[in-house]
Amino acid sequence: MIGWRLMQLHADGTIRSDWLPREALDAAGVFTARCEHGHAPPVADCSCGVYVTEDPTPLLEWISTNPRRLYEWLVVCEGHLDGPVLDDPSMPVWPPTNVRCLRGSRFTVTRIHADPRAHHADRAARRYGLPLQPLDLLETA
Ligand SMILES: [Zn+2]
Repeated sequence: MIGWRLMQLHADGTIRSDWLPREALDAAGVFTARCEHGHAPPVADCSCGVYVTEDPTPLLEWISTNPRRLYEWLVVCEGHLDGPVLDDPSMPVWPPTNVRCLRGSRFTVTRIHADPRAHHADRAARRYGLPLQPLDLLETA
């Protein structure tokens, strides 16, 4: 399935997890979930997995309206989530929207959406060979 997730831009052009900044996309633009308990993520009674939303709307709102200027160092990554696909156990939908939050085993980024004021977005797009689109074109119906 197609999924969307927020990730961090770093000065070296890497794109990293916003929760676990040591974890970066690999050279092919793939983010692979790992579990500290040794599971093959995702597992129903664990929180492991790579997390996405099924629609970018709440991510776009979060990044654009946050007073900490998240648009400077976060990007919205669009990509394919490989399964099995399970619900996010702590937040099945992003409130107040009904956008589902899901997790899977592997997320392959196909496009980066960044605000024009974001730092290092051009470098990240070159590093991974991914298309870079302005965040404001990410309008949803
Ligand atoms: Zn686990």
